[in-house]
Amino acid sequence: MNHCLIENCTKPVKAKNLCAMHHQRLLRHGDPNIVRPKRVKKMTSCAWINCGKAAMAKGYCSKHYYIQRVLTNGKVDVT
Ligand SMILES: [Zn+2]
Ligand SMILES: [Zn+2]
Repeated sequence: MNHCLIENCTKPVKAKNLCAMHHQRLLRHGDPNIVRPKRVKKMTSCAWINCGKAAMAKGYCSKHYYIQRVLTNGKVDVT
């Protein structure tokens, strides 16, 4: 039984000397060695001390962004 052409791949050949997975990659990307890079969503945490929440604005979480804005501006803009 033939094995996939790709190094370290021991799956049986499906087409063009490649296994199903690598053949699929060949069709999709034109290169069986291409692995679609995983998109890692970059998550920054709140810059506030001891706050582990995810930052949503200016490096702060929603709550601390609000507090930080109040501290910076002295008052909150309600308009
Ligand atoms: Zn393979
Ligand atoms: Zn926070």
